Amino acid sequence: MQTKGGDSTRLGGLRKLTPATRSLAIAAVVVIALLGSAFAIGRGIAPTGESVTSSSTTTTPHPTDQPAPSETPSPDGDPASAEAHDGGTTATPEPTAVDESSSASPEPTASSDYYDEGTQRTTGTSTVALTFDDGPNPQYTPQILTSLREYGVTATFCVTGKNASAYPELIHAIVADGHTLCNHTWDHDIALGSRSPDEIRADLIRTSDAIHAAVPDAPIAYYRQPGGAWTYSIVSAAQELGLTPLHWTIDPRDWDAPGADPITTTVLDGVEPGSIVLLHDAGGPRQGTVDALNQILPELTARFPVAALPPSMN
Ligand SMILES: [Zn+2]
Repeated sequence: MQTKGGDSTRLGGLRKLTPATRSLAIAAVVVIALLGSAFAIGRGIAPTGESVTSSSTTTTPHPTDQPAPSETPSPDGDPASAEAHDGGTTATPEPTAVDESSSASPEPTASSDYYDEGTQRTTGTSTVALTFDDGPNPQYTPQILTSLREYGVTATFCVTGKNASAYPELIHAIVADGHTLCNHTWDHDIALGSRSPDEIRADLIRTSDAIHAAVPDAPIAYYRQPGGAWTYSIVSAAQELGLTPLHWTIDPRDWDAPGADPITTTVLDGVEPGSIVLLHDAGGPRQGTVDALNQILPELTARFPVAALPPSMN
């Protein structure tokens, strides 16, 4: 006790240390000493510790959004030129309104800078996903909804803001049937990825807002770039807005209106577990797609689980 008293006397200039403070100081010294030994021991066993750490790190599974190992085999090999057609080429250069969605950029460009990093190209599970782009459209979307309902299948609709705004009741019908939504730009802008970050962001937000005007509570978990013309900018912008950049596995080129049979054959021959199938319910004459769907669904649903991409990011 006297020793301690001496200590406190020596520290008197710092105002008196209460017994409690002193205990704390002693405890601190003890803790530091213990930490020191632990550190020394830790160093001794470091190799083991590190190997444990690193192995556990490598084990972490990447469930989904990992671009599948084998995703190269896109039928046309050039997704950019692919969907480009649905938007521009054949499309009507119509000034506004009605059936389009295609009005957009008429350029079949964008094929030069093929970029796919960060895009989802398979479902990541054994489930096959059907996706319908460019709508909704009052002529074709209701027919597709009827067919999907008949087979108890849900799908994902990549809609433009312009069409969502024109046909909110169809957006509502899509959601009411349990399908999921995907942002496909305001007006099918194939060149959006080359615009400024502000322009990209504004387009995506405007589109999501138009969708939410029809279905305020429905999640929009995906973004699909028209023409598959992905760029670093567009992938980044989508991700920052909480949208998964969604590509596809199989493109039966229905945008080129080849008729129902070729569309059916391409899909049924090419589909495998995890495939994301690209189809269109707008952007041009789509009765071939509607008819093909009725041919595809019986066999497809017999061979695979078929369902919409999940409504939230994985
Ligand atoms: Zn499209």
